[in-house]
Amino acid sequence: MGKSKTPKRPGAASGPYDRKPGAKATANTNIFKFDKDFGQHILKNPGISDAIVEKAYLKPTDVVVEVGPGTGNITVRALEKAKKLIAIELDPRMGAEVTKRVQGTPLAKKLEVILGDVIKMPEIPPCDALISNTPYQISSPLIFKMLAMPNPPRVAVLMFQREFAKRLVAKPGDALYSRLSVNVNFWATCKHIMKVGKQNFKPPPKVESDVVRIEPLLGSARPNIAFEEFDGLLRIAFNRKNKTLRAAFAPKEIIGMCERNYKVYCSINNIPIDESLADISVGDEDLMMDSGDVEMDIDGDDDAQEKDEEAGGLDDEDEDMPAFFKEVGEDAKDKDAKTPSRNPKSKVGLIVRAKIAKVLNATGLAEKRSRQCDQNDFLKLLLAFHEEGIHFS
Ligand code: SAH
Repeated sequence: MGKSKTPKRPGAASGPYDRKPGAKATANTNIFKFDKDFGQHILKNPGISDAIVEKAYLKPTDVVVEVGPGTGNITVRALEKAKKLIAIELDPRMGAEVTKRVQGTPLAKKLEVILGDVIKMPEIPPCDALISNTPYQISSPLIFKMLAMPNPPRVAVLMFQREFAKRLVAKPGDALYSRLSVNVNFWATCKHIMKVGKQNFKPPPKVESDVVRIEPLLGSARPNIAFEEFDGLLRIAFNRKNKTLRAAFAPKEIIGMCERNYKVYCSINNIPIDESLADISVGDEDLMMDSGDVEMDIDGDDDAQEKDEEAGGLDDEDEDMPAFFKEVGEDAKDKDAKTPSRNPKSKVGLIVRAKIAKVLNATGLAEKRSRQCDQNDFLKLLLAFHEEGIHFS
């Protein structure tokens, strides 16, 4: 698509906001260098901006949140349809551009620009619809943040890199099936809307993109369990998705985390630990797992393939995992040094190990691999763990 380059001549515009009088602030005006570190790939095809807004089926009463408005290509279209649009933008230069773009028009009073990193915000502002030509670095954390909202929006129309979009719709057994796939399809329905070629962006990204529509389950349709609990279980299960669930629960840091949570659970519910020890029958001890198994390939799998996949980013959720989840993991490792779980004879450690083994065997899922489990398997597992007082957040 054509663009008007700022002429390089003495006295020509030098700063990002210096423009020739009368020049319009549009994506086609080369006002400043786009920052690839911010995932700045501006949509230059108005048809795609139109389609993104159209597929949100906005109502005149809707409050819309747009993540990364950039120069405002999607913003101005959504503003025309909605009551209000809150644009969250990391780059102050872009924040200034989108503000200027509507200045002096009736759309200006409907626009609120918040400068900052949407992922670092305590929460996404309450809204009816979420739209974004999503900066690829925040694809996963943005979705997790939206799904974790107590009252998520009715609809989200989001553009992602194609491989990421495929992960959203992956089914059990698919190579791209992951913690993200299970979460999205547990808390929402997800539909592919359209393919978008890289030539529609300026500068063009390295890969193709897809637009998806996600409709979170709302009200009574929303599963009545804590997001952090379900996701906490998935994090353990998908840490090594090609291993059996028995192996996924064997590492001592996992046991340590469950042990700490179990102590909290007992203290909140006034359950004396000794009493719950009485629940463990002699037979249960056979089910207990050895904490020394952490580094062992328990199910005898060839780990090479698994590691390859991770290297290729297929199962690497850590990289785009929200910081607070990473902290939980790191925290677990730190605290593990001090936790009694290192001592296989610790009373709470024994209780927790036995409970985990009991749940895995009772649900019939001990030998199943996460990559084959569907959302009902994970739900069944979580409810069985909760019955035993084992929690993951
Ligand atoms: N919506 C515009 C621009 C998309 S480029 C269009 O489609 O043309 C992505 C935009 O997201 C950029 O403006 C970038 O600065 C912004 N951005 C990147 N990371 C962000 C973050 N963590 N929070 C908010 N905005 C972000």
